[in-house]
Amino acid sequence: MPSADEPSTTFADLQLREELVRALATLGYEEPTPIQREAIPLLLAGEDLLGQAATGTGKTAAFALPMLQGLEQRGRGSAPVCLVLAPTRELAMQVSEATHRYGRDLFGAGSGARVLPVYGGPPIGRQLRELERGVDIVVGTPGRVIDHIHRGTLKLDQLRTVVLDEADEMLDMGFAEDIEAILEAAPASRQTVLFSATIPSRIDKLARKYLRNPVRIEIQKETAPAGEAPKVRQSAYVVARPHKPTVLGRVLDVEAPEAAIVFCRTREEVDSLTETLNGRGYRAEALHGGLSQEQRDKVMGRLRGRTADLLVATDVAARGLDVDHLTHVVNYNVPSAPEAYVHRIGRVGRAGREGVAITLAEPREHRMLKTIERVTGSKITMEKVPTVADLQARRLELTRAALHEALIEDELDGFSVVLDALTDEYDVVQVALAAIKLAHEGSTGPAGEDEEDIPTAAPASSAAPRPGTAGRGGEARPPRRTRTDGARVFVGLGRAAGVRPQDLVGAITGETTLSGRDIGAIEISDRFALVEVPEAAADEVVAALRATQIKGRKATVRRDRGPGKQ
Ligand code: AMP
Repeated sequence: MPSADEPSTTFADLQLREELVRALATLGYEEPTPIQREAIPLLLAGEDLLGQAATGTGKTAAFALPMLQGLEQRGRGSAPVCLVLAPTRELAMQVSEATHRYGRDLFGAGSGARVLPVYGGPPIGRQLRELERGVDIVVGTPGRVIDHIHRGTLKLDQLRTVVLDEADEMLDMGFAEDIEAILEAAPASRQTVLFSATIPSRIDKLARKYLRNPVRIEIQKETAPAGEAPKVRQSAYVVARPHKPTVLGRVLDVEAPEAAIVFCRTREEVDSLTETLNGRGYRAEALHGGLSQEQRDKVMGRLRGRTADLLVATDVAARGLDVDHLTHVVNYNVPSAPEAYVHRIGRVGRAGREGVAITLAEPREHRMLKTIERVTGSKITMEKVPTVADLQARRLELTRAALHEALIEDELDGFSVVLDALTDEYDVVQVALAAIKLAHEGSTGPAGEDEEDIPTAAPASSAAPRPGTAGRGGEARPPRRTRTDGARVFVGLGRAAGVRPQDLVGAITGETTLSGRDIGAIEISDRFALVEVPEAAADEVVAALRATQIKGRKATVRRDRGPGKQ
């Protein structure tokens, strides 16, 4: 992580093709993450790579961008030139979607890289047709990839790059044999890339057997020097993605920061979270690389002048920023590297004051949190999401404190006529309780819509192989990372196109089997909308919305993989 005054590396500095740089800018990626900075030049130079990196580091783009860079317009045949192996159907889908997004501007408008996810579960027919038509990059689970090889529908002879993503998990799931068979069948001249969160001896052995003089990269390099470690209380909440805005609100209510920075990954995430927070009554300002210097100064002015108390920002935009009264740093996602974490939390806990760092981690990101703990040598306490009862208790406490202050101030004489009038009819305790109720509701408002307890999300464990998942049979099992709490669908039209929640509800209920009750939260920003639907119906909703028009227009529709992650 470069320090505040070091010039930062851009994607263009990494010699990536202009079409790729443009796609990344559209996605709001402001600069490469550490793993991307290190891996991309090596992979472009054709090196084999052994990378130790967990989810959340940006490793997907680290291997996907060089693969895309290598695709040639001419001589695009039907057999794939890149193959990515991933442990689960979810990851295969995510990697495939991300790669598709990064490569969408290649080969002219409306064309893009041909990326095909291949996994067990859905009927094999569509995959067969796509393979026949020709693809550039295949992303698949080892079992299904082997099936296609045996059927003769997937040819490996043109492969130039093979990527093993989350290799440790693939071995844990019993895919060792399949992986070796695939690597044996791939051309010897290929480039091989292996990413793994941990490098146990089995991975090391695999790498020694199948990688040629690999360069080894670890993202956790240095530990923070002891003296630099700020005095910061660090805690984390494991939350499923759809609940993140609500959990953030609750944590902010309970923590009541004087001023806080909330770090997000992308510009889109900054914008949409700022909007959500403002919609929920917080005073939040967005800060990202898309703002002019003048806009930036205004935002900072509002924060310093305390007309705003939350700054929602990307790392790049917040670099070098110094706000005296900052008490809290919130990581809306686990940062992409321990260094980024250290930089972020270094903004509080100065001058001997205690600061607070709060991280919201999705179940999958739990591992990265452990890595950060190890590298920084500091403990991050796992906290329970405040319950509705906690919130109410906290709000009552605030009301009590406010009344206590009023009693101390003792400027109450002017109100005695009201008391006298009421005590003729009511007991004085009753009158006091009614007054407390009014004071309480006046400061907190009546109970909001958020007042439902949030199901606890357990960290995704990935250590031990699960009984019965050995071998290819594992693929038929329900994927381990299925969310039980709903999926989000991204619709590429927003307020600017006049889209309102009822338009989306209308389109979904009109075109699918869902009823209005099945549809969860709807967030609409200027340029896009996010709709929560049951996981099981997500594909149906995506297909239906793609086929129809919203407000008379066709929209880009897909599953949303992360807040602002597009
Ligand atoms: P990964 O570790 O590949 O699962 O990526 C984690 C998340 O970070 C994904 O949601 C990506 O969209 C996002 N991401 C990857 N690279 C960047 C970047 N350079 N800037 C901002 N977000 C990124």
